[in-house]
Amino acid sequence: MTIDHSNPLQWRFSDRATALQSSAIREILKITQQPEIISFAGGLPSPATFPVDVMKAAFDKVLTTSGHTALQYGPTDGYMPLRQWIADSFSKDGAKIVPEQVLMVSGSQQALDLLGKVLINEGDRVLVETPSYLGALQAFSVYGPKFASVQTDDDGLIPSSIAPVAEGARLLYSLPNFQNPTGRTLSIARRHELVETCARLGLPLIEDDPYGALSYNGDPLPKMVAMNPDGVIYMGSFSKVLTPGIRLGYVVAPQPLVRRLELAKQAADLHTAQLTQMVVHEVVKDGFLDQHIPTIRDLYGKQCQAMLDALAEFFPSGVKWTRPQGGMFIWVTLPQHINAVELLDAAIKEKVAFVPGAPFYATDPLTNTLRLSFVTVPPERIRHGVSVLGRLISARM
Ligand code: PMP
Repeated sequence: MTIDHSNPLQWRFSDRATALQSSAIREILKITQQPEIISFAGGLPSPATFPVDVMKAAFDKVLTTSGHTALQYGPTDGYMPLRQWIADSFSKDGAKIVPEQVLMVSGSQQALDLLGKVLINEGDRVLVETPSYLGALQAFSVYGPKFASVQTDDDGLIPSSIAPVAEGARLLYSLPNFQNPTGRTLSIARRHELVETCARLGLPLIEDDPYGALSYNGDPLPKMVAMNPDGVIYMGSFSKVLTPGIRLGYVVAPQPLVRRLELAKQAADLHTAQLTQMVVHEVVKDGFLDQHIPTIRDLYGKQCQAMLDALAEFFPSGVKWTRPQGGMFIWVTLPQHINAVELLDAAIKEKVAFVPGAPFYATDPLTNTLRLSFVTVPPERIRHGVSVLGRLISARM
C-alpha cells in the first residue's frame, strides 16, 4: 500500500472532497486576526453595527410568547410570516412576488450550494463575472462546472460579452450592487440589457445582492428580479443589514425552481432554524431596518471616503482603484509587474493585510490586483495602513 502523506487518516475521501480547496481568504484571515494587524482583508461587516440589544429583546419576546414553536422543527421552505414580509417588501419595490416564491436559507451562501446542486451537471458551462465572488466559485466548483468569464468594466458586467461564451451555458451568476470583490455597480441601462439578453438566451440569471441596501447615498438601484421575475433568481441576506452570525438568507425565484431547491435543502439540513427566523421577523416586521440601515450606510460611507482619500494621498500614479457608491470593498489594480501575493508578504511584516485578487478570477487570474475592505478599520488606522501599502508599492514601481 502506498502511504498518502497528505492524508494522515489514510481513509479514502471522495473524489469530490479530494478536489476541495481551502479558500485563500479564510487562510489569510487566520493570519490577520491578530489585533495588532491593520486588516483590510476581511469580508466581515463591522460588529459596531450589530443591534445586540434589539436582538436580545426579540429573542426574549419570541421565547416568552412562542417558545415551543420556536424550538420545534419547522417547514423546509421557511417561516411563513417572514417569507410574507420579504414578498411584501419586494412588492413595494414594484415586483409582484408571492411568499411561495421565497425560500429561506441558512445564509445566502447555502443558496449558492443549492443552486449548484439543482442547476449544474458536471462539465456544464457556468458564466461568471470577471472577477467574481470567491465563495460562489467555491460553492459551484463542487458540482464540476466549466467556468467561462464574462467581461466587466467600471459599469459592471458587459452584457454584449455574454453571447460569445453563452453556448451551452447553464446559468449566469451576477453581482449587480457594490460587487464583492470590486465594489462596482451595474448601471441601470445594463441591468435591462442583461435581463433581456439572458431571457433571449433562455439563461437563468442569478442576482446575488447582499449589499444592495448599503448604498451610501441611500437610493438602491432597481432589482433585476423586478424586471423579469420569471427569468431571474434573486439571493438576499440578513448578514450585512443585521448580523451574519444568525445565518439567514433567502432566494426569490420562480415557484418550480423554489420547489426543487426546497427538496435539495430538505436533504441538506431539513430547514433553517425556526428560532432565528422568528426572531428576525420580530425585529424587522415593524420597520426596524428603515432606521438601522442608514446608520450602517453612514459608517461605511465615511470609512470608504477615508480610504479613498488615503489612496489618493499615498498611492503612486500608475495604480488604479474603484470608487464604490456603497458596500464594503475597493478593488486596486497595480502595474502589471507587481505581484499582490509578494506585496502581501511584505505588508504582513509591517502589520497590514489585504486579499490578493487572483483567487477571485474563475479563469485567467490577474496577479496585480487586490481587494481592500474598509468597514472594520477606523479612519486613522485606515490612513496609516494605506500609507504603509503606498510606500511598499512605490518601492516596487
Ligand atoms: N454573496 C456574496 C457576494 C457575499 O459577499 C457573501 C458573504 N461574504 C455571501 C453571498 C454569503 O453571505 P451569507 O451566507 O452570510 O448570507
